[in-house]
Amino acid sequence: MNKVRTRFAPSPTGFVHVGSLRTALYDYLLAKKFHGTFVLRIEDTDQTRQVEGAVKDLINVMHWAGIDFDEGPIKGGPYGPYVQSERLDIYHKYAQQLIQDGHAYYCTCSQERLEQLRERQIASKLPPAYDRHCRNLNLQPKPDEPHVIRMKVPMEGDITFNDAIHGNITFSFRNVDDQVLIKSDGFPTYHLAVVVDDQLMQISHVIRGEEWISSTPKHILLYQYFGWQVPIIAHLPLILNPDRSKLSKRQGDVTVEDYRAKGYLKEALINFVALLGWNPGDTRELFSMQELIENFSLERCGKSGAIFNTEKLRWMNEQHIRLKTDQELLDMLKPIIVERNLGQFSDQYLLAVIALMKERVTFVKDFIDNCAYFYQDPTSFDQAARDKNWTPETGARLSAFAERCQGIKQFDATAIEQALRAEAEQQKISASRIIHPLRLAVSGVSVGPSLFHVLELLGKDTVIQRITYAVATLG
Ligand code: GLU
Repeated sequence: MNKVRTRFAPSPTGFVHVGSLRTALYDYLLAKKFHGTFVLRIEDTDQTRQVEGAVKDLINVMHWAGIDFDEGPIKGGPYGPYVQSERLDIYHKYAQQLIQDGHAYYCTCSQERLEQLRERQIASKLPPAYDRHCRNLNLQPKPDEPHVIRMKVPMEGDITFNDAIHGNITFSFRNVDDQVLIKSDGFPTYHLAVVVDDQLMQISHVIRGEEWISSTPKHILLYQYFGWQVPIIAHLPLILNPDRSKLSKRQGDVTVEDYRAKGYLKEALINFVALLGWNPGDTRELFSMQELIENFSLERCGKSGAIFNTEKLRWMNEQHIRLKTDQELLDMLKPIIVERNLGQFSDQYLLAVIALMKERVTFVKDFIDNCAYFYQDPTSFDQAARDKNWTPETGARLSAFAERCQGIKQFDATAIEQALRAEAEQQKISASRIIHPLRLAVSGVSVGPSLFHVLELLGKDTVIQRITYAVATLG
């Protein structure tokens, strides 16, 4: 096999869509798997859609996700810089070659004429298309005369290409317009620029979303006109909402930045996105980037739309949190504690919170949000738990238990449990009559990890003080 060179070729319009992340990821996996090269190329030929700072943001987001480029607009390379707006001379040279070889022509039709043509076609229920008015006029417009360069598409016949995921795909030329290659502003269209660049950058595999599939026949024709070998082309299935409509902002978040801000781990997002269209051929679901590199193949990419299931993504996040070491989680938790101004806690204390809560969180911030009582005394108490577990006798029962706690020398989970059971026995009640209201008293809520371990971590003084406060408040 030739050297694998893949490229991610976004138009930098602001944020990175999760579909773009998937494309970039598959490109990256393929390049890494075959020790090839992964190129970033900025496709900014539509100057009306440019956003300041977008390229830098994009590179940062990709870096966050663990996807770095080997060649690109910043590092440069043998053909760099890979920014299409800086390569206009190259596209003009190739457009001229097409004109000379009889595969393209100048067109000076005015916007007005094209607009009228379009209206007439729509009125007669014809698909809007250029009527090829200038095709055989052999025009040589002066530089200041408005013009475009169009590609001569055969009027008859069809064109077939082999897609690595969809197999052979045939398009009839009848449905292909004489596509503009160079626009009146001197910029190339996507079609010319993408083919020229993929050739010059020696791209071996072109991977892109299925929404581009109708462009591909024009690209194949250009490859033929230039006498170039067509790279391997793969169109990835659409990403769909659970109702099978195309993933859209209206139904939820669509950008990598959104998911990052929500607290998803890069490992979870990458793992999740990898499985949107690819499967390992067995029941494995959890993959590290390294495992994805080893296992990925275009052959295992599916044709049908991939559902973006947020529940699944949340589950992935939980799984990847559990795969992290407690120390790694601590490093992620500490900045949030500082940001929220929660106070000072020793690493040892926070590691104990992490160990107790690890199986009960979806996001790192849940190490705080799901157990605020580890960081501050509760000042309110869950009403439903109160109604259920707090009776007129509860105050006295808990006070007696608090009294007993004073005498515990080594305030650990085992000793606390023994004390609690002894207290229940003495009061001739079941232990649960103390356990449930005790949890409410020390945490303000009715659910959490092992109560005896929670009490051990909070420490004797805090436990007794919280019981006192709850009894005074709840009666
Ligand atoms: N510039 C196109 C995009 O924004 C690239 C399509 C392709 O990969 O050919 O997705």
